[in-house]
Amino acid sequence: SILVGVLALQGDVREHLAALTGTGAEARTVRRPEELAEVDGLVIPGGESTTISKLAAAFGMLEPLRAVVREGLPVYGSCAGMIMLAEKILDPRSGQQTVGGIDMIVRRNAFGRQNESFEASVEMTGVPGGPVDGVFIRAPWVESTGAQVRILAHYDGHPVAVRQGSLLATAFHPELTGDHRVHAAFVEMVRARQAAGERSVTAANGE
Ligand code: GLN
Repeated sequence: SILVGVLALQGDVREHLAALTGTGAEARTVRRPEELAEVDGLVIPGGESTTISKLAAAFGMLEPLRAVVREGLPVYGSCAGMIMLAEKILDPRSGQQTVGGIDMIVRRNAFGRQNESFEASVEMTGVPGGPVDGVFIRAPWVESTGAQVRILAHYDGHPVAVRQGSLLATAFHPELTGDHRVHAAFVEMVRARQAAGERSVTAANGE
């Protein structure tokens, strides 16, 4: 079966665990490199990206996270998690580092003060069954993307969901709704990578 970790340094960890379990996957928290090594996929939750960044550095997790991203581990980041997956932040707080992996520049707290939190219906490529209820809480938007990045959803003219290879990110929080379709799409990415790995092992064995 599929085991998906949720990076549990800060943020809405429980909600992601529940959403993943809701898709039928197994889910558990990840805080240490040894725990990271055991999972088939990882979620970086919403929360405060500066705090997650500082704690990741303090727990010795930044390099291990960068390494698994380079190796192709499927990772999904929501909101602060999206910021953690960005190669570049437009307005970083001092010392704020990211894991990177998605060739994009994000703008933190992009929607402005009047619009700190809102819900909007968002049509998302790869998520069948109609628009998702996008919960935006001091959300970032994607300012610009490299050629490898596929934009999966827009809101108000700005990309708010993207995918690059095995990395998925949304500016909004599907884990705060009862709708698990975005998590299901991510779990499908995890399953596909696992199946591909098993196929290549079989091929190497000459079967
Ligand atoms: N504004 C937060 C940040 O910059 C993200 C908010 C969220 O994850 N809901 O990290």
